This record gives sequence, C-alpha cells and structure tokens, in this order.
Amino acid sequence: MKKFCFSLLLVFPILVFGQLRNADVYKLPEMGKENIRENINIPGFDGYEVLKCDFHIHTVFSDGRVWPDMRVNEAWQQGLDAIAITDHIEYRPFKDMVIGDLNESYKIAKAHADYLGFIVIKGAEVTREKPIGHLNALFINDANKLDQEDPVDALREAKKQGAFIMWNHPGWPNDTSTLYNVHKDLIKQKKIHGIEVVNGFEYYPKAFNYCKEYGLTYMGNTDIHGVYKQTYRTDKQSGPMTIVFAKERSQEGVKEALLAGRSVVKFGDILIGSEKNLLSLVKACLSYEVKEVKGNQALVKVTNKSTLNFEILLDNK
Ligand code: ZN
Repeated sequence: MKKFCFSLLLVFPILVFGQLRNADVYKLPEMGKENIRENINIPGFDGYEVLKCDFHIHTVFSDGRVWPDMRVNEAWQQGLDAIAITDHIEYRPFKDMVIGDLNESYKIAKAHADYLGFIVIKGAEVTREKPIGHLNALFINDANKLDQEDPVDALREAKKQGAFIMWNHPGWPNDTSTLYNVHKDLIKQKKIHGIEVVNGFEYYPKAFNYCKEYGLTYMGNTDIHGVYKQTYRTDKQSGPMTIVFAKERSQEGVKEALLAGRSVVKFGDILIGSEKNLLSLVKACLSYEVKEVKGNQALVKVTNKSTLNFEILLDNK
C-alpha cells in the first residue's frame, strides 16, 4: 500500500507539468489587471470638462519608492486624468543610485503618459522647514533652476517660468496649520495660488478658511511615496484628488482652471471647495423630478448621473 501511494505522488506532478509545457502559451484571462481602469464619472457642465487630478506625487528620483512610468500607470488605473510629478528639490536620498537631473522623473513619466494619452505636469517640491514649509511649483519648464539657496528665490524662479504654486500640507509636520508672514507675503505677490486642504489621509480645516479668505484654489492630493495599492484600500476608497473644471482636456486647460480657482477636493466621499464650485458640481451630477404631490407629501425622483456618492437629508421644516 505504501508503495502505491509513493508512485502516485511521483506520476501526478509529471502529468500536470507535461500538459502545461505542451501548450504554446497558457494564460489565465482573468488574472492581469494592468489594463483595467476605474471609472470615475462626473459629467461636464457649462462647457467644462471635469478632470480628476493628483498634483503631488513622488518617485524614486526623490524619496518615493516607485519608478515614474509606474506612477502614470497607477494614476491611469485609478481613473485619474492628470498628475504632476513633484519630486523634492532638496531631498533625494537615492541620488547616487538613480542617475538623472531634477527633470528626469518627469521625462520618464511623460514618455509613458504620451503613449497612454494621459496628462503629466512637470512639477517640483521646494522643501524647507517651517515657517515656509513645503511648496509645489507646477507647470514649470526646468526644475534644475529651482535648486536655490533661498526658497523664496526658488519660488521667484518658478513664477518666472509661469508656475502655479501651492502651499503643501499646512498642518504637517505639526498640527498648527499656521499661516506665517512669509505665506501672507507670497500670497500678496501671487507666488502662492493654492493650498492643500487635503494631503494624503489628512484634512486641514484652517487651510479651508485660508482658501476662502484669500481667494486661493482648493487642492487635495495624495503626496504618495509608496505603491498606490499598498497605501489606499482601492476596493473601498481611493486616495484624495483635486477635481478640476477645465475648458479643455490638456495641460493648458488644467493650468487655466487652477489659476481661475475652478476646483473641488474629493476626500473619501467628502467634497470640499467653494460654495459656487460645489453647487456647480452637485447640479451637474444630480437632477430631480417631482412625480406626484399629495397634500404635504411629494414623490420626487432624484437621478445621480455620476459615480460619486451623495447623501440626501430631508428637511421637514
Ligand atoms: Zn511631497
């Protein structure tokens, strides 16, 4: 009996492998996920296209853990329309292993984005201690020229290159979200155009007030360093994003919209922005029809044309 079992064990693996090796190529069709893109549908309105964007992304060219073209893949899969590659100017722990200047990560990402028909924006993160903190310069031409001793000079150069500049994660690394004089001066000189009210897993209510008070653009981004699908539970929730109302689906379209303040931040199922932009977005997504009125009761059909989740609260007043 013992002998019989032994011979079965020997023969069985040989049969299985023999069959697979005879086939030319054997693939399980349901396995590969690289071509699957999440569908985040938000209808356009008033001639605007609604684009889902992430303006704060790191690669191995600074302290991220992912190669730039894979960042494009991740964002495409997640259903985004545009990203900015914003590696730190001053903090590049792998620079002796990963060769290239401060524009290299963008170049690699851009080549892949062109292949996919995706928008990648050249950016850089000016990275200093508070009070000034971290600021992203987006839509720049040459990140190398932002490598300056004084961060204010770096921002001057960014502005010269036509950048949109955003103040990053005001509530990090401490929880104070203090708007210092240096920020007030930069806002006055139009060297800060937007603030991250959301960064990664954090929302900064004070930054919301600054956007409102100074008429700045509301921004919400991942600031992702690790692998996207290891960072966010994509089955339940995606990372934060900046939803932009653009006149056209292009880098210029995104830039014009940001400078004009046409954005709303998505943070889980919470939408954050100015009253005007939120109303426009909600009106584009939801429509209603009164089906029947009986006394003080009405039957109303509400249609959600988007994939966003909305909660309806009944006001009985
Ligand atoms: Zn960053």
